[in-house]
Amino acid sequence: MSENDKIFKDRGEEILYNLDVLNICNFDRVKKAYENQIKDYIKNSLIPNISLHVNNGVVKISMKELAKLGFEDLINITLSDITGYYKVKDWIEKLLEEELRKSGENKCYNVVLCDYPEEFEVSMREIPYYVNKVVKFNGVIISASYPCVLSKKHLYICPKCGRIKEVYFDELFWNDKVFCKFCGGKMEFANVVDYEDFQELVIQDLSDESEYYGIKEHPIVWYCGAKSYYFGHVRITGIVREVPKNSKSRIYDFIVQAINVEKLGVEKPLINLTEEDVKNIKKVAKRGYIIDILADILIPPLFCDDAIVRKAILLQQIAPYLEDRGKINILLVTDVGIDKTDILKRIGSIPGNNFINIAALKWEDLTVSYDKRSNILGEFFTVNGGVVPRTLGVLCIDDFNENKKLSTKLSESFERNVLTVNKGSFYNIPAECSFLCACYPKTKFRKLDPKKSIIKQIEIPSILLKNFDLIFPIRNIPNKCRDKEVAKYIFLKYVDSDNEEIEGYDYVFVDVGEEKIKIDFNFVVKYIFYSRHLTPIFTDEAIEKISNWYDEMRKNHYITAKQLNTVIKLSIAVAKAKLKNYVDEEDVKEAIDIIMHYLKQVVYNPKKGIIDVTLLYKNKI
Ligand SMILES: [Zn+2]
Repeated sequence: MSENDKIFKDRGEEILYNLDVLNICNFDRVKKAYENQIKDYIKNSLIPNISLHVNNGVVKISMKELAKLGFEDLINITLSDITGYYKVKDWIEKLLEEELRKSGENKCYNVVLCDYPEEFEVSMREIPYYVNKVVKFNGVIISASYPCVLSKKHLYICPKCGRIKEVYFDELFWNDKVFCKFCGGKMEFANVVDYEDFQELVIQDLSDESEYYGIKEHPIVWYCGAKSYYFGHVRITGIVREVPKNSKSRIYDFIVQAINVEKLGVEKPLINLTEEDVKNIKKVAKRGYIIDILADILIPPLFCDDAIVRKAILLQQIAPYLEDRGKINILLVTDVGIDKTDILKRIGSIPGNNFINIAALKWEDLTVSYDKRSNILGEFFTVNGGVVPRTLGVLCIDDFNENKKLSTKLSESFERNVLTVNKGSFYNIPAECSFLCACYPKTKFRKLDPKKSIIKQIEIPSILLKNFDLIFPIRNIPNKCRDKEVAKYIFLKYVDSDNEEIEGYDYVFVDVGEEKIKIDFNFVVKYIFYSRHLTPIFTDEAIEKISNWYDEMRKNHYITAKQLNTVIKLSIAVAKAKLKNYVDEEDVKEAIDIIMHYLKQVVYNPKKGIIDVTLLYKNKI
């Protein structure tokens, strides 16, 4: 080493040393300044309400709450780097344990500092710009390692002066040589002081979900916690780290070291709505025909000129989240010439939804596959969730009758919220989504023969057919008026390239009092997410209307409890779409119109002149 190099090296170590001392001093100062206040907080607010904070032995402490109480410096230390985070966390854990012991409880909790303010929310693309900073983002787990145990805290000892130092595992990525801060001697590894459950998760951006095979951003998340995650939509709070690919590598990966992982779903929606959004949603909801207005933007009439079908698909988006009973499954049987793929892709682009073409897929693509992967920490097995566990809303399946083996296996998830996978032993894979499927008829020219039964023309086995709530044919009938509209739209869209969005097709303005509110695809998506979480209750009149309809139908036609169930689900969705607290007769009427539109076209027996759903059960293929 030349003299110059040595100076540089010394200078470098000096800077590092100073930074570290600064950090330790800071923490010690903050500890001293806050100790009594934190103890008070633990004693007076945390322990009396501990049941609200505890889940699986984990105590979650809200940073928003601590900020309100004036603990900013403490929060800043948790944000400075991951070591700072662990120091504060371990300290609060220790104080909590002490306070609990004083009150006679000998319990040990794992403290998680979470619920950082919204300003930490970033998109996945921005993650590399936030090295060593706290970030928050939403995504879907596409791969998860089996949980392993990680040595979190290591004890090093200096053979020269006998001083000891605790080293957190992440500090060792950089350098496995630890030097004594006081005499400069090389410290020796003595012991592991603390272990933690560890998982590596690979997360995918929600907005990339529709591009199933063009995966782009997928940050790796390292997560330490008692609960393991394999599937689903999650919100990650963590600190961005650069980690070398291996101990000798100069190539780095951006890794998010998770502080907290929350599952998204009913209570925590996948997209954030601003106050302004909610205000506008409530305003337009009061308008008449709001469902039709929204449905026409969700699926432009150019794609599908059947208003009831468009409405049913909108209601399907609003319906999920009542658990398995709430799912509405729809099958579209279209003539060639109808852009079924465009309709499905459009619906598949809603956050949480997905689009697939089943023809070329394997069972693993839909359910789960197992793999081996390695990183700087070692090698481990991973679980890779397929498209079904990755879909929380609606899974759009194109060419549904082009892969009979797969579609039949999938039918289990139409009714239940799980799929059973046999890998030596049986595993339950979550299947929370509902299904929007589309196919062409299996006729010579891929055109429906209106004189023949639709069921006989699609070659879908009964076991699957009976699980659809609604089946709609969409015919490609030349229509001068519509064809002219299509031509006009295409002209506006592609010839005049400045016109990216065209009023009346891609968006409309609705009058709300003095105001005009723009309704475009984005607005409809927000509206769907807002209305999904509502839980309207049936009025007595509505219940009576449904049971009257059912009795009447049972007398003259042949339907089953499945259709009754569909009317109930649709009625709830109609009320939710109008943002109502109650399901009334009018909502039930709209629901009945939708199901009758299906029954009359698909299961009408012309010989007997009745609706007969047993036709669905007789489709032997
Ligand atoms: Zn020493």
